[in-house]
This record gives sequence, structure tokens and C-alpha cells, in this order.
Amino acid sequence: MREAVPAPPECERVCVFGTGDLGRSLGLRLLQAGYGVVFGSRRPHSSSLIPHGAQVQGHAAAAQSAHLICIAVQREHYDFLVPLANQLKGKVLVDVSNNLRKNQYPESNGEYLQSLVPGAEVVKGFNTLSAWSLQNGPSDANRQVYICGDSVEAKQVVMAVATKLGLSALDRGSLSVARELEDFPLQLFPQWRLPLRIAIGLSAAFFFYLLIRDIIYAYATQGKDISFRIMVSLANKVCPIVSLIMLSLCYLPGVLASFLQLYRGTKYRRFPDWLDRWMLCRKQLGLLSLGFAFLHVLYTLILPIRYYLMFWVTEHTVSLIRENRTTMFDTTTAWRGDSYLSLGILGFGLYVLLGITSLPSVSNVLSWREFSFIQSKLGHLTLLLCTAHTYLYGWNRFLSSSIYKWYTPPGYMLCLVLPSVVLLLKLLLITPCVDRTITRIHQGWERGGGRSEEP
Ligand code: NAP
Repeated sequence: MREAVPAPPECERVCVFGTGDLGRSLGLRLLQAGYGVVFGSRRPHSSSLIPHGAQVQGHAAAAQSAHLICIAVQREHYDFLVPLANQLKGKVLVDVSNNLRKNQYPESNGEYLQSLVPGAEVVKGFNTLSAWSLQNGPSDANRQVYICGDSVEAKQVVMAVATKLGLSALDRGSLSVARELEDFPLQLFPQWRLPLRIAIGLSAAFFFYLLIRDIIYAYATQGKDISFRIMVSLANKVCPIVSLIMLSLCYLPGVLASFLQLYRGTKYRRFPDWLDRWMLCRKQLGLLSLGFAFLHVLYTLILPIRYYLMFWVTEHTVSLIRENRTTMFDTTTAWRGDSYLSLGILGFGLYVLLGITSLPSVSNVLSWREFSFIQSKLGHLTLLLCTAHTYLYGWNRFLSSSIYKWYTPPGYMLCLVLPSVVLLLKLLLITPCVDRTITRIHQGWERGGGRSEEP
């Protein structure tokens, strides 16, 4: 047996079964937090890399020296606990295990452990932390841990340890929730999936649409090869289009939810599942749309250094000199150009503000009123500015028949449909009579009587 330092007081001792990656990292953090740590191992004499200050014993002896035992062993080996049932009676067992895939076993690991050792109190927890993060100390991102179990007292013991380790434990309920907790580490960006699919789908659809309208059309009708435009011109058209549509998709569910509440005359009925899911991924939709807007800005900034543009400007200037011609300065065009650029810059500035305030570290220091003012009021203003920016881009070309190549409208015209609809619906919602009803519904009023009396 290995004894490096005198054993700490009994009540402050925690036992860890398993001297693998997680067991050792957890043991180290427990030691750093002031606990005495006793490892239970199959080979107590040959265990290496044990954190300095911990003891290593056989499972039975280790179990007797602590009330709380963390089982840092793979679930497949849990049957070694059955012969220890007597020593584990009345102890709190923390099941930290995870699986390789969802529904790998008929029951959750936590429930399986409880069935093997019915005399102990099993608490599921810490499984969302990795050995690496435990060793490196909790950062903001992985401070949160979830626990569940059938015994309130056992959960309190585990929560107290978690707090002392600098973690923030959230009680998710009874042990039947264990499967849900075991699925957490298997999730791969669950809330990003739908927004990413939308972004990829829209980018691909508009890319091919513009490829046909701009590049293939020029080749088919005039024999001109302008395929080089794919890299910058086409990309710089796809990015703002996708960005504006995604920003509208970020604000459309909120508007639809308000109309649904108006129609139902109450806020106490659940939204349909599709609307719920849509609302839950608004942040991701907004961040992706900011990403596309950012790419649009970068593409626009490099325009002056493009060979194509420099060649065209030189050619044009030379031809003016050669033909001894001058062009008149058009104030209207200057106004339009400056307004278009200015609205774009203002819109992008607000876009960035929305992105920054969606970061947890920033939103945590804002009051709910401040957060909703920025995300809702300034968010709709951003949509308005970006939509106006796109309308100015189209300017008077909307009525010119030459832009409808092969009878198809340009991409910027198509992308204006959704933001215009969202802004119109929002305008309806903020008209005084509708706004008053919506505010009353949000305060709990129900049409036809209900929770509160109609004023
Ligand atoms: P590991 O490195 O393979 O260690 C597992 C330990 O279990 C071994 O070192 C061994 O310790 C013990 N063990 C192995 N076979 C055994 C058997 N037949 N009977 C009794 N004990 C046996 O695994 P790990 O990465 O530490 O993971 C341990 C548990 O934590 C797993 O359930 C895993 O899902 C969970 N987890 C791991 C991480 C992580 O980042 N690694 C994160 C979250 C959750 P002794 O030689 O001392 O007996």
C-alpha cells in the first residue's frame, strides 16, 4: 500500500474507484480542493502516476474509508462491484461513465449501477467533464455539471463536493434522467445543425442560380467567358444574400409567435414544436448571418485591388482620353452610392453589436431589458438598415427589363422578399392597437377570461 501523507479527517475523504485518466484527474482536483483521496484499484501496489498525496488501496478497503465513492471505471466492468455490495451499503456512488453511442445499452449506466448495488445511493454526475478539463481547472465553458439521483441527501453530498471543486452543479432530477445526461457528451453541435443546413442549402442554391444567370448566360448569349468572376464577384453576391435571408429567418419566428398569441388570445398555450425548435436556434441563425455579412465586407474591401477592376478603370480612362471625351458628374448617382455604402456600414456595425451581446460573458452583465432592447429593437433596426442597403443596390434597376436574364430576377431581388415580409409584419405588430393587445397578453391577460380579468 502506498501512503504519501497522513490521512485527512474521515469526513473529508473521497474514494475514487479506478486509477485511469478520469480517476486520476478527479483525484487531483479533489486533493487540490482539500479532500483526502483514496483510490480503489485492482492493483493497489503497482498503480503508477497517482497524484501526490493520495492513497491507493484494494476496492474493499478503500470503500470503507469514505462515504462518497466515484466510480471512474468503464460500465462494462461494473460487475466487480457486486461482491462489494456489503462494503458499499449506505454509501453514495457517483457514476461518471459515458457511452460510445446513444442507446448502447437497454438502461442507463446510472440505473444499471443502482441495480447492481441496491444498498447504495447512486448519483449520476461529472460525466460532461473530460479528464483534460478536470486537470486544467474549470474554465467558464465547462464549469457547469449536471447531476441526478433518487436520494436528495446523496445529491446534496455530491453537489457540495462539486461546489468545493469550483464547479456549478445543476440538479436535473431523479436517476431516470441519467440516460439524458449520458447523451450530452455524445451531442455534436445540436443547436447548430438546422442553421448550418439552412446556410449551406441557401449558399448552394444561390450559387447555382447566380452561376446560371451571370456566367452561363453571358457564355450562351454573347460567347463571353467571364468564369473568373466565380471567385470574387459571385461569392460577394452569395454572401450578402444568404446573410440577409438568415437575419430575416432569425426574426421571423418571433413575429410569427406574436401573431399566434394574438390569434389564440393567450400566451399560456404551447407553440407548435417546429416553431419552438426554430426559436431555440435564433442565436445560431444570427451568428451565421453575421459570419456571411463579415465575408461580404471582406470581399468588398478587396474589390479595388482586383486585376479585373484595375484593367477596366485603366481601359475606360484611356479610351476617354483617346476619344477626347468627358463624363458628367451625376449627383443622384453619388447620393445613391454614398447612401448605399453608409447604410451597409451602419447595418454591419449593429450586426457586430448583436453578435457581441450574444456572447454569454457579455449577455450575463446585461439586464433582461437591456438584452432584449439590443437583440429585438436594435436587431430589427439592423434588418431594416440591411434591407434598405439592398434596395439601394437595386435602385432603379428593378424596372429595367434587361436585368431579367432568361426571365429570372436577380439574386438581390429574391433575397429582399423575406426581410420585407418580416419588416411589414413587425410594423403591424408595433401599431398602437396591436401592440397594446400583445402587451396585455404578455402580462397574462387571456381573451374570453382566464387567469386574469380583462381590464
Ligand atoms: P480508463 O483510463 O480506461 O480507466 C479505467 C480504470 O478502470 C482503469 O484504469 C482501471 O483502474 C479500472 N478498471 C479497468 N478494468 C477494470 C475491471 N475489469 N474491473 C475493475 N476496474 C477496472 O478510463 P477513463 O478514461 O478514466 O474513464 C473511466 C470512466 O469515466 C468511464 O466510464 C468513462 O466513460 C468516464 N469518463 C471519462 C472521461 C475522460 O475524459 N476520460 C470523461 C467523462 C467520463 P485500476 O487499474 O486502478 O483498477
